[in-house]
This record gives sequence, structure tokens and C-alpha cells, in this order.
Amino acid sequence: MIQDYFRKDLSDFESYNAGKIDYKVRLNANESFNNLGATTRKKLGRVIEDSIYNRYPDVESRNVCNLYAKYAKIENVNIMAGNGSDECIQIIAHTFLNNGDKVAMQSPDFSMYGLYTKVAGGIPIEFPLDEKLELDVEGFISMANKKEVKIVYLSNPNNPTGNIITRENIIKIIEGCKCIVVIDEAYFEFYGKTIVDKINTYDNLIVLRTCSKIGLAAIRLGFLITNKTLMEELKKVKPPYNVNSITQSIASVIFLEPELIHKNVEQILIERSYLWEKLSKIEGIKLYKSKSNFILVEVPNAKKTKERLIDQSINVRSFSTGKLENCLRITIGSREENNCLLKNITLDN
Ligand SMILES: *Cc1c(COP(=O)(O)O)cnc(C)c1O
Repeated sequence: MIQDYFRKDLSDFESYNAGKIDYKVRLNANESFNNLGATTRKKLGRVIEDSIYNRYPDVESRNVCNLYAKYAKIENVNIMAGNGSDECIQIIAHTFLNNGDKVAMQSPDFSMYGLYTKVAGGIPIEFPLDEKLELDVEGFISMANKKEVKIVYLSNPNNPTGNIITRENIIKIIEGCKCIVVIDEAYFEFYGKTIVDKINTYDNLIVLRTCSKIGLAAIRLGFLITNKTLMEELKKVKPPYNVNSITQSIASVIFLEPELIHKNVEQILIERSYLWEKLSKIEGIKLYKSKSNFILVEVPNAKKTKERLIDQSINVRSFSTGKLENCLRITIGSREENNCLLKNITLDN
């Protein structure tokens, strides 16, 4: 049987299913509700027309990396581009993990940390957040060291809670954990604080960023930021030509004009305040503080609430099990989309 050649340890894996996408109001995937403006898209049209299609892309995505380095206030040598930060997560796993190596993460946190750990033959160790969905920092550090994990992945702000780990505690984790510490700053723009300034202070720190939440999910581009020693090791594993030329060109246009991003983020933050304010007035909903482009809410019966929203063609993110069983993660939408959600959200039991 052909299945005899398959990996036994992948037998219970499922392919990533983002669900159908033709809902009228899509508040499930933490995308930006704004598309790029017409003027920018026109400019990009010319860039696409002028692209060189018969040659491989720049293997190191230099131009876009240099522009992003400026945007992130770091040096050019400290950055690598990936096909989404997803690919960076995967590159890290394949660079440092041998079969059976352990990796620590919070639960809940971004699901790809566990997935890529397992695909690389590693063992994810999940550390549950407390009832307030906060991290017991000391407990986490001592667990990571006791289990002798090789990598720690933490999203900050956390997806799906929206909560943050303070800078002081991030530093405690980097200093306390005897392993590679990956701080995933996918939502940096909505929080405003970063730890990238410490990549050359600590030999074990890697920071991740992405373009997906700030209006460029379509082009699949993420960044890995770290010191030279780790970078050299990671580059051995990075697939060649991993970021296509069109993505590189498009992102270069955008990061030449970072005000485009700042303006979009500003609008998302205004809508976050609006949605928070309105949701907090609904009796029976519990809100978790958010420094991201989404709000996690707890309702009496998340399954029912979601079904009713889907009936109105509004999609939000739900969670099947565990602590988040009755939670929904609602991406910040446009004013119109937010009002549509507010009008249709119900709290039946
Ligand atoms: C969305 C998200 C990513 C994925 O980013 P891509 O660049 O689209 O692959 C990574 N980490 C976290 C925590 C996210 O929420």
C-alpha cells in the first residue's frame, strides 16, 4: 500500500482549513479591513508590468529587507524575509530541532508553533495560561528549563487573547530560558512596543514580524530579525528564492512610503476603540483587553452565537475546545462591518 511510505506521526494531522471565504463580513482572520488605496494599486500595476519574469528573484530579498530594516529601526544584516512569517517559524524549527527535541509554547497561542515543531520531529510542550489568560512568567521559565526545551515561541501580543507580556517579563524570559527564544510580533503595529532593540544584546533572541495584519496578507511576506550568529545558521536552512519577485517589488513600494501603513493602522485603532466601547455595553459579554487588531470575547454559548452570525453571513473565529470553548475572536472591521456585527450578535444559551 502506498500509505506504507507515509510518516506514521503525521497520520492524525489535518490540512489547514480556513473555511469558505465568501462571507459578506469577514472578521475571522485578522486581516486589515482596508485594501490599499487606488493610487497605490495603480502604481503597483506599473511595477508588475515592469517586472522581470524570466529570472529568479533576489535570493535574499535585499531591497525589501533594507527598507524593512529602516522601518523596524534595525541593521540590514539582522533581517531575513520569509514567505509569510509562517515560513520563518518553519525555518526556525528546521534549523534547531533534532528528532525528539522539545519546544515550549503557551496555550492558547498561534497554532503554527506546534504544527511546525511536530513536522520537524520535535515535541511541543504547552504551558496553559491562567484563568485570566495571562502567563505565569516564572512558572513558564522553570518549566522550559526543566524540560530542557530547545526553542520557546511566544506571540506578543498573543493571538488569540490579545494580551501582552510586558517588556520586563519578556527580558526575564530571554534571560531565564536556556534556549532560543522567539518573540512573534505579528501584531506589533497595534501594540507599538517591540523587543527588536535587544537582538544584539542576547544571543538567543529571534523576533518575527509580518505584513499580513497591516494590509498585505495577499502578498505573503514576513520577516525574521536576529543577531548575526543565529542568522548565519538560519540561512543554511532558508529555501532559496523563497520570496517571489512580485512580492518583493510590491512590498518595496509600500515600505518606501510607510505612512501608508501608519494611516491604515491608525484607522484600525480607531475602530478597535469603537468596537470595544460598543461591545462593552452589551450585558453578558466578557471582553479581554486587546493590543491587537482583534478582540477576544466570551459569551454564554459561542457555538450558537457564531451560528447566528454565520446565518447573517458574518464570520468570526471560534475555538472548539478547552478554555476558549465559549470565546470568539473578532477581527476589527470597518465601521460598517463593526455595526453589522453589533446589530447581529446574539447571546442565546
Ligand atoms: C497571523 C499570524 C502569523 C502569520 O503571519 P503570516 O506572515 O501571514 O504567515 C504569525 N504569527 C501570529 C501570532 C499570527 O497571528
